[in-house]
Amino acid sequence: MEIVNRTARMSAITAKLRATDVTVGLVPTMGAIHPGHISLIQTARKMSDVVVVSIFVNRLQFLSDEEFKTYPRDITKDVDALKDIDVVYVFAPLNEEMYPPNFSTIVEVESTDWLPETYREAFFRGMTTNVMKLLHIVRPRFLFLGQKDAVQGAILRKMIADLNMDTEVVITPVVRDPSGLAYAARNCFLNESQTRAAAVIYRSLRAAEEAFADGELQAKKLIRAISSLVESEPLARLQYAAVVDPETLEPLSKVERSALLAVGATIGNTPLNDSVLIDRAAKPDRTDG
Ligand code: AMP
Repeated sequence: MEIVNRTARMSAITAKLRATDVTVGLVPTMGAIHPGHISLIQTARKMSDVVVVSIFVNRLQFLSDEEFKTYPRDITKDVDALKDIDVVYVFAPLNEEMYPPNFSTIVEVESTDWLPETYREAFFRGMTTNVMKLLHIVRPRFLFLGQKDAVQGAILRKMIADLNMDTEVVITPVVRDPSGLAYAARNCFLNESQTRAAAVIYRSLRAAEEAFADGELQAKKLIRAISSLVESEPLARLQYAAVVDPETLEPLSKVERSALLAVGATIGNTPLNDSVLIDRAAKPDRTDG
């Protein structure tokens, strides 16, 4: 395994691989590798000849300096976890190369009006800008993303289509702990009672899924199923609950075919997201979690 810090070196490696028809898959992460990342990387290994896992904690993706500073970072532990699953390249770029002082370009996909402004700014504008940079540096055939952040996945898919980029997005299922809580680096900030409380996030999605399975198609009612459950948990603060078209991210009033149920909540000061896809043509996946 090689740990690559320089963007020019990373580009040179993948350019050489492309020239010999080697399929490159990129798995962007912010580190603090957990079972959700591992599952994503395993799918990437099956579909690509060479997997590049990027580890970069991007300031643009945080709501505050404080949150950015305290985000869990342990590159040695991460590299050990990745060695076990045969990752070939870990791309851990230097902040000064990614975002030099004169950096002034922002990439924004205009389809997320239903999200609170702070979320749009941090999770999405920062994320699209950063992933765009990673895509240009690595130029992978496949980009692997987790269903947990399905809204991000849909936004990136749109960015790639809108800008005629030559990368295919692959979305893989959410990996959850036994309570249903999706594994996430930020879970380490939750104390015991907050961890218990955080399980309400997935429970709320399941409640909406069940209502849908029972024939409820009105987005308002599905949103109500999500929000009432999250609001019933004293340690949780609902940030958004939405029923949107999985491709365009436009809010739906009724589920005609399929929909993305997305929820964001803070537990204490920790922002957590989760989402599930519902589809009238398919039964809800009861094995998921
Ligand atoms: P992050 O390090 O949180 O930026 O996540 C990097 C990638 O891993 C994103 O595509 C996430 O959607 C994905 N991911 C994070 N948590 C999970 C999980 N519990 N299950 C599956 N994928 C995940």
